[in-house]
Amino acid sequence: MKYCSNCGQPVSLQPVEGDERERFVCNACNTIHYENPKVVAGCLPIWEDKVLLCRRAIEPRSGLWNVPAGYLENGETIEEGAIREVWEEACAKVSVVGLQTIYNITRINQVYLLYVAELIEPTFSCGIESLEVKLFSEADIPWDEMAFTSSTFCLKHYFEDRKKGLLQLHTASYPTVF
Ligand SMILES: [Zn+2]
Repeated sequence: MKYCSNCGQPVSLQPVEGDERERFVCNACNTIHYENPKVVAGCLPIWEDKVLLCRRAIEPRSGLWNVPAGYLENGETIEEGAIREVWEEACAKVSVVGLQTIYNITRINQVYLLYVAELIEPTFSCGIESLEVKLFSEADIPWDEMAFTSSTFCLKHYFEDRKKGLLQLHTASYPTVF
């Protein structure tokens, strides 16, 4: 951060009374600008024994596959954001089953929250951020072409749990060893 969003003057990192870490403080109006992690919400959409993935049309990791997910918007619940992201990226309607992945990426200050969701009907197409949208069976997952480890983590656990008839929450932090 370089400039104050309140008055447009330069900011600088400064100690703040009663706070353990330095914050960007405006040199002119003294506004303290707190920066906190972003929430990325998404769904792993399921149809019969297959899962729906999107091939990204945008950077980062353009051309690689991903569980549909994106930044939560103000005024949205996590579930609403997750459902919206599936609609935007895959033009598909889903019904949420349960929260399945919490994935911390402290290096870039993001938290992924991924749900397992059922496709309401097997109808989908490319949203503006997708090159391709496709249903995959477990044997056909393009493991070497996944965009983000959060997606790989979600998928590995989904298939492992499904064999045991389970759907449960898994938590991890980047980097993850598979
Ligand atoms: Zn200011």
